[in-house]
Amino acid sequence: MSTIREELEARELASLAPAAAKSAETRGRLRPEPPDPIRPAFQRDRDRIIHCKAFRRLKHKTQVFFAPTGDHYRTRLTHTLEVSQIARSIAKVLRLHEELTEAIALGHDLGHTPFGHAGEHVLDELVPGGFNHYEQSLRIVDVLENDRQGLNLTWEVRDGIARHSKGRSGMPVGADPAHRASTIEGQVARVADIIAYVNHDIDDAVRAGVLRHADLPEGPVAVLGRTKSQRIGRMVTDVVVQTLDGGLAEIRMSEPVLQATIELRTFLFEAVYENILATAEFSKATGILGGLWEKVRQRPERFLDLRTVEAEGLDAAARDFVAGMTDRYAVRLYEQLFIPTPWVELGG
Ligand code: MG
Repeated sequence: MSTIREELEARELASLAPAAAKSAETRGRLRPEPPDPIRPAFQRDRDRIIHCKAFRRLKHKTQVFFAPTGDHYRTRLTHTLEVSQIARSIAKVLRLHEELTEAIALGHDLGHTPFGHAGEHVLDELVPGGFNHYEQSLRIVDVLENDRQGLNLTWEVRDGIARHSKGRSGMPVGADPAHRASTIEGQVARVADIIAYVNHDIDDAVRAGVLRHADLPEGPVAVLGRTKSQRIGRMVTDVVVQTLDGGLAEIRMSEPVLQATIELRTFLFEAVYENILATAEFSKATGILGGLWEKVRQRPERFLDLRTVEAEGLDAAARDFVAGMTDRYAVRLYEQLFIPTPWVELGG
């Protein structure tokens, strides 16, 4: 008699597109372990990511604006949820593996530093050999979580997390196969990331008074729509229709929608991200993270994981600690270490 998990695996084989990944055909985990009685492998990975500490820390990490106090700004966590939702919408219509897509989307930004782009920039300068968040995301799931046991995720989820790269020059779709996820679900998560951040970062930038809707370049607005919801709808529909037209060989966008999306992203980089890098806020992030980097390396026994210090050296341990901080943790620790405690004036 088959288990509940095996029934679900059989259902995947019967209902998903031939190009979709199937749980029963996973390339497996770093360390073999017995399968779950009720959950197929990718579903189990999705659950492991949601239950991990790095996932909870995303709620206090910057998306674009530092330690935002306004309740309506995105954080890394809400960004991640928007990516996951967009990715699942696309995966569902294309009959791809929804839980694999979701697991990659939920894990894609786990390695982000405090203070968003600014923090990543600062750490890249501080860490010998450089720093990028997607390598750190993989390190979190492979090594750091679960008291250095790692989450022991499947190859497909790890591949999607490790090959999620973006930045100014990363292509949303159509990247060279060497530079994109091996599964089509990983490609969905990547395009969903760009669709999410291009749209919600405009929304937050307007909220912060950094942009006005009228500032958006007219070309992309004409193609994609005037509102956030029109633009997301247009991009998602385009991805679905174009990908189906291409027989699910890869995730596609039509040329006009792809060009408009890239143009909007270039505009955002210039008007918002690089604008922020040039501000006083950025130099504050540099000061805080630079100060913490020095202090924690001076006192590894107090701050760092000594197993990492032993096995991989001081820089690796300091990188893991500083990169893992939330914005508010970094600010508080900086205050504790660098700001004198005020003397309380007693009456009399
Ligand atoms: Mg992201």
